[in-house]
Amino acid sequence: MTMRIRCKHCNTIIEGDGKGTYITCKCKKCAIDETKYYWRIIGNIEDFEEIKDEYINIKNNYVFQDMIIGSLRYALGRRTYSSDETIDFIMEHKEIITERVCKVMLRDLKWYFEDRRNGIIIDDTCDFESWIKLQNWLFDIAKEKKYDIMSYERR
Ligand SMILES: [Zn+2]
Repeated sequence: MTMRIRCKHCNTIIEGDGKGTYITCKCKKCAIDETKYYWRIIGNIEDFEEIKDEYINIKNNYVFQDMIIGSLRYALGRRTYSSDETIDFIMEHKEIITERVCKVMLRDLKWYFEDRRNGIIIDDTCDFESWIKLQNWLFDIAKEKKYDIMSYERR
């Protein structure tokens, strides 16, 4: 079981890692400490809400993939917690990355890196590093699945 909460102050979602790591939200008002044997939440009850997962069936089709691409576009270059959320979601769902999705994402990332280099986008270094991580991950998938991405250079 994994405990997951959202801090009502900084909006960060944190979850236990099952190894007893003391994981705090960004503003440090809440924390989770979870091992195989126990879990505890540190913080006042009014400071956080527990997030419980509910499952629905979604077809991994063109429309769904376009919505994920849309999330990527929204988050790119923005100062928002949704950047990491989007990147984590994509990287947890490798099956979304068809050749088309891979190409579109690499192109959007390329434009983002260009705009950033030209000073059109000013965002945080930590987000920039997360986007590089995603780009590398996409290149690895492209290589593994032999997608034709010759026209996409790394940053
Ligand atoms: Zn917080």
